[in-house]
Amino acid sequence: MKVLSPAGNFEKLIFAIKYGADEVYLGYKKFSLRAKAGGFDFDNLKKAILYAKTHNVKAFLTLNIFAHNKDILEIRNFLEKLKEEKVYPDAIIVSDLGVFKLVKEILPDINVHISTQANVCNWEAINFYKNLGATRVNLARELSLKEIKEIRENVKDVELEIFGHGAMCVAYSGRCLLSYFLNQVYPNKGECTQVCRFGFYLFEKERFEKLLEQEKDLKDLLKETFFLLEEDENYKVSYILNSKDLWTMPILDKIYDLKLDSLKIEGRMKSAYYVSIVTAAYKQAILDLAKSRETFYKNKDKYLKELLNVSHRPYHTGFLEDNPEQYFLSSKYIKKYKFLGYYQKDGLMKVKDNFKVGDVIEVVYPNLKVERFEVKDIIRYRKGEKLKVDEAHPNFLVELKLDPPRDIEPYTIIRKQI
Ligand code: SF4
Repeated sequence: MKVLSPAGNFEKLIFAIKYGADEVYLGYKKFSLRAKAGGFDFDNLKKAILYAKTHNVKAFLTLNIFAHNKDILEIRNFLEKLKEEKVYPDAIIVSDLGVFKLVKEILPDINVHISTQANVCNWEAINFYKNLGATRVNLARELSLKEIKEIRENVKDVELEIFGHGAMCVAYSGRCLLSYFLNQVYPNKGECTQVCRFGFYLFEKERFEKLLEQEKDLKDLLKETFFLLEEDENYKVSYILNSKDLWTMPILDKIYDLKLDSLKIEGRMKSAYYVSIVTAAYKQAILDLAKSRETFYKNKDKYLKELLNVSHRPYHTGFLEDNPEQYFLSSKYIKKYKFLGYYQKDGLMKVKDNFKVGDVIEVVYPNLKVERFEVKDIIRYRKGEKLKVDEAHPNFLVELKLDPPRDIEPYTIIRKQI
């Protein structure tokens, strides 16, 4: 089973590969479902696909919007441009049948993967897509382990992929109009504004209307007619639509037995730190499972702990074993670590967040080995000069004197407990 990681931009692509991704997915700015994830312009897309290929990693291009008539010409032009400039991703991910048709017509030799947005829940749907020329299907998030097992037994010659880790939401396979109603943007064109994470009140209409007739002022109306569903820490609102995040590490041995082709990690909007740690945890766990169950069980707690060290909402295993759960008390992410920066080619550290002399930092290697050091000295490199400083700030280039000294490979992550 491969690990398929998100590459929201070039930096995240490099980290995903460094920390063990076998496959990456990335989007062209205009047509992926993460309009705000940065994404790639055409030149960078070309470079990113080449970068992945030279590192022996498969690059999948997401083109999984639900296209309206007005989008079709633009998508056609984009596909023609890929062809003209010989930019060939290993697969194109689609959910819309019109887009699927265009890919097959213009780039017939490129693999087509069916997105989870197509919410494929049964083997007949998969066979249908196979007959249309799809080579892989990402199954709907709404399936149980039992259903996935039945699908695997009934489907041959099509690769199967599932979502293994990341945000879930109340929408069925992401088909949702909440952002449209409340913020007038279309989630299925990559503009979801996470409306389900807002806090909500329960409101009693009749009482409100009666009080309104009595011409009560707004303050009283609010006091007397809004109800709490379940209180957050400030006793104000409830997050009735806020789904817990998905993780599959607790049941990865069962998933491994399903003989799926790929485990997809959600999160093109997430940080490079998140992508690295989550990718490394699943990659190392799958390598363990390939050796033996005992190896996996021996290291499982370490992997679970690392997944708790990235920003997340409370975790759940989604529909796989049970029904997914909502979390009413808060939609805030739980954060335990700050991503301080990473090593560059020259052995200097590129700083992403503040730290100071005396702080205890952790170096996290791609095999998830973690080393702790106290920061003794920070030497800032600036315009050819070296300067001893007490604090490092974002965008500084610094030399850290680690004790004992060691060579650390480029793109190795440095973090600090919050
Ligand atoms: S608003 Fe929430 S439920 Fe709707 S698509 Fe966005 S994340 Fe999903």
